[in-house]
Amino acid sequence: MNAATDTAARALFAELTAHEPTGLWSAPGRVNLIGEHTDYNDGFVFPFAIDFRTVVAAGTRDDGRIRVVSTFDQVPVEVALDDLDALFPARRDEIVEWARYPLGVAWALRAAARDAGVDASASLTGIDLAFSSDVPVGAGLSSSAAIEGATAAALNDIWGLGLDRVALAQAGRRAENEAVGAPTGIMDQMAALLGESDAGIFLDCRSLEADVVELGFAPAALELLVMDTRVTHAHSTGGYGERRAACERGAAIMGVPALRDLSVDDLPRAQELMDDVTFRRVRHVVTEDQRVLDAVRTLRAEGPRAIGSLLDASHASMRDDFEISVPELDLAVDTARAAGAVGARMTGGGFGGAAIALVDRGLVPAVTTAVEEAFAEAGFTAPHIFTVHPSDGARRDA
Ligand code: ADP
Ligand code: MG
Repeated sequence: MNAATDTAARALFAELTAHEPTGLWSAPGRVNLIGEHTDYNDGFVFPFAIDFRTVVAAGTRDDGRIRVVSTFDQVPVEVALDDLDALFPARRDEIVEWARYPLGVAWALRAAARDAGVDASASLTGIDLAFSSDVPVGAGLSSSAAIEGATAAALNDIWGLGLDRVALAQAGRRAENEAVGAPTGIMDQMAALLGESDAGIFLDCRSLEADVVELGFAPAALELLVMDTRVTHAHSTGGYGERRAACERGAAIMGVPALRDLSVDDLPRAQELMDDVTFRRVRHVVTEDQRVLDAVRTLRAEGPRAIGSLLDASHASMRDDFEISVPELDLAVDTARAAGAVGARMTGGGFGGAAIALVDRGLVPAVTTAVEEAFAEAGFTAPHIFTVHPSDGARRDA
């Protein structure tokens, strides 16, 4: 628990309400260890929750209204709970963007409660929510899933909904897709809800079956380094759409519902049937799904040191076949590896953001310095480099 974040959430709540909160809840950001652009192809991903969290101080109010405030934006946003259905998704533009995340979760949870037979208007009390966070925004660590997860955990407890963690993750995703308007998969929310210390979440994005897999970084004296290039995703919207379209085209040509339904044995036939670009997009997804399966099996059988080459191969596939890397990401990955990292890859959607490296604890300073120096020499903006540790998912803290 980060005492400073807790204190800030409490202080903001006190400023807002002049009384004590009912409690404090929190949820983490996440890093995706391996499995990139596989989620929307019904495939496999393997993220873990990190030790950076968003905290919410929450308390009830008796006027049926919901109010949210954040250390990011101290202007409170307040609406009647009964107005949420009219606001989302049709009139979401009337709500300042950040507030759509928590208000969208409240909206999605009320709908889930109604589906479960609860009379939402009569029985779900008004609420005040004050947020504080140390999850870096826009660095690919999913601050959005953290604020959604913290909100979902708090409302589930205060409203007594009794929803399970997968249902809470689904409410977070629904908020992000429909209330915010961002077409994301469910990986981030599942990691933020299901994370456990020193474990990753092996997720089947088709069935939503999730296995908690021990990572064993600490006993192996390994650290996971995040190298945030601070390159913002300039082409990410267009590039993301193009990649999704290529994947759908590839699946259609092969006559399968999703690329998840292909295996590496199908690749020679795929190459005969499609143009080179579509084929390489397909090859990335199909081999990446296989690498996730291999990573989970290898971890269980041999421990974390043995997955280094899979991380390296994942990066090469994203750079050469999926073509979503940028020079800064390639430099971070190549330099980390040359300085002794066990393995390294870009992580997240691509076109910027962060790379990760699995590094022996004793080599962390040397790898960090090597990457910083390489960036300076190349004339790139200085990167932010820090370690993250696999941590608990959403929880009640106080
Ligand atoms: P990320 O990769 O960090 O998830 P997103 O663009 O998906 O990036 O989500 C970031 C957005 O989520 C922010 O711009 C803001 O609107 C919202 N957000 C995240 N955390 C907070 C917070 N603690 N307080 C207010 N808004 C937040
Ligand atoms: Mg996000």
